[in-house]
Amino acid sequence: MNKKFRVGILGATGTVGQRFIQLLENHPQFEVTAVAASDRSQGKAYGDACSWRLQGEMPERVRSLKVQAPAPPLECDLVFSSLPGDIARETEDSFAAAGYPVITNSSAFRMDEDVPLLIPEVNHQHLNLLARQRQRYTSGGFIVTNPNCSAVALALALAPLHAAFGISAAVATTLQALSGAGYPGVPSLDILDNVLPYIGGEEEKMEAETQKILGRYVDARIQPAPMAVSAQCHRVNVADGHMVAVRVKLARQAELNDLREALASFHSLPQELGLHSAPRLPIVVRDEVDRPQPKLDRDAGNGMTVTVGRLLPDAVLDYRFVALGHNTIRGAAGAAILNAELLIALGHLTG
Ligand code: NAP
Repeated sequence: MNKKFRVGILGATGTVGQRFIQLLENHPQFEVTAVAASDRSQGKAYGDACSWRLQGEMPERVRSLKVQAPAPPLECDLVFSSLPGDIARETEDSFAAAGYPVITNSSAFRMDEDVPLLIPEVNHQHLNLLARQRQRYTSGGFIVTNPNCSAVALALALAPLHAAFGISAAVATTLQALSGAGYPGVPSLDILDNVLPYIGGEEEKMEAETQKILGRYVDARIQPAPMAVSAQCHRVNVADGHMVAVRVKLARQAELNDLREALASFHSLPQELGLHSAPRLPIVVRDEVDRPQPKLDRDAGNGMTVTVGRLLPDAVLDYRFVALGHNTIRGAAGAAILNAELLIALGHLTG
């Protein structure tokens, strides 16, 4: 296929927006043709409006794109959204109503009954919900969301265990990177020499989203997975990479090696379809006693692999492990791009 989908990015100047720009440079199926941000940036060239904070140079071809208001119409076939939560709902709804596919990182629509909360390796069957959205959006537009940046690491690691043994309870304790708070994020004097034991709304999102992601599509709705999920979230002084210490109670007894095998052998539709952003291994299991670490493991699989280590029996629940994922790639822009690649492969996005 030679024709590329034209892409608009809402929130293009932000932490996640810049990741979108970086990951879409030279993408075989997408080209960025529109960028939108706040009125601080509107009317300027992207190169002037955006203070580029990723390694490497800002891609040349986006520099001259004029930053627009995040409102339809935009010169594109679909939009990726990384807008702040407070404005995402109204804005994304207006794009879907105007006929645009909206592939979003924001939390606004994640828990809506007719909106897929998609991890392509875990719950691609949830895309059946798009049929229900045709009642909401008669224009042909629709909304697909990706999970919270910590929930994605947790749900990806739980998925093969839930499929093989059933999980009746999961307890998750996060250590979340600074880039998860956007730019400029947490004031330096609050986080230097410190850990913050509160990230607004995060614990609730991890608990509810994990149950939805691992839920089953039955009778045109998602039955949440019948597991208790408890999350405690902490901001730590790390640039990128969210770590999640997890304990699980299984529905069926299993040996440690069975868990290791289920995790290490996990692959799914995106790998079978050879999607451009799909890592060869969605989960890598490391046996060294001191892995995973954000600095060493966040870029595994180009930031799309979740690394699991410290897999051990647990004296309180059945087993425990530590999972690590790159929050702005698998936890945000990379996740949304993989979602869009799956939508193309399954015929939901047509040129
Ligand atoms: P950010 O760095 O603060 O960037 C916010 C972006 O939104 C900027 O482009 C900003 O434009 C634009 N914006 C702000 N207010 C606006 C308004 N009133 N109208 C239009 N545009 C506006 O935030 P971020 O970390 O990229 O997060 C963006 C979204 O992704 C949030 O919903 C967040 O929860 C979600 N998310 C973030 C992560 C992560 O790891 N950071 C992971 C998953 C999901 P200006 O530059 O013009 O101000």
